[in-house]
Amino acid sequence: EKNNYLLKTNDLVKKYKEYQAVNEVSMTINKGDIYGFIGKNGAGKTTFIRLATRLIEKSSGSLSFNSENVLKMGAVIEGPACYPYLSAKDNLNYYAIQKNIKDKKRIDEVLAFVGLDKVDNKKLFKDYSLGMKQRLGIGLAILDQPEFLILDEPINGLDPQGIVEIREIIHRLNQEYSTTILISSHILTELSLVATRYGIINEGKLVKELTKEELENECGQNIVLTSSD
Ligand code: ATP
Repeated sequence: EKNNYLLKTNDLVKKYKEYQAVNEVSMTINKGDIYGFIGKNGAGKTTFIRLATRLIEKSSGSLSFNSENVLKMGAVIEGPACYPYLSAKDNLNYYAIQKNIKDKKRIDEVLAFVGLDKVDNKKLFKDYSLGMKQRLGIGLAILDQPEFLILDEPINGLDPQGIVEIREIIHRLNQEYSTTILISSHILTELSLVATRYGIINEGKLVKELTKEELENECGQNIVLTSSD
């Protein structure tokens, strides 16, 4: 099934001077995957994500999207890019105008989807909880129904309830809209209920890839990540 992939990299490298932040990563994300990208702080997750979204240029190797429209991609990288002095709805309205989305129903649909429809419209983004902020970030990224959604550490720092809410959104996006999702985290267990496949990155290298079943079997054996976080 060689056309089933959505993102494929081959020996992808990003160097900063002599340091290889991403070191010969060959990764395949298939259509329909929820790919959990795990690594400690500084392992290279964000650099890989920035390469995938073309925020930065690779040093060598290849990266390809198997999509009719490579721009059908949504991403939340290093925190949600929202306007602090606007409400959730107005942030969405603002993006809708920029993205030329005319269907106003879509705003309410997205607000409900990310669980922000009951929030007082006078409450501004800056006063939201971290979980609400992350959910709005996801809302903005899914406004024009991307085929591929990239979320960089969306659950970092959230309380257990906040984590459950994000997991639920990810699960529903995948199930109801067939969205392929790449989600990074430095804590394996945070993703262990949501992702269908896992890639472990350490010092720029993709050191291991596992299915959900393999992970469940291996857990507690030789996967050591970080205990300091
Ligand atoms: P975090 O969870 O902290 O975001 P990460 O896994 O996303 O960690 P990266 O941000 O990708 O890690 O960083 C990987 C390595 O590359 C780090 O050692 C970092 O210092 C280095 N690095 C990243 N961006 C640059 C840059 N612009 N210039 C120099 N070094 C960089």
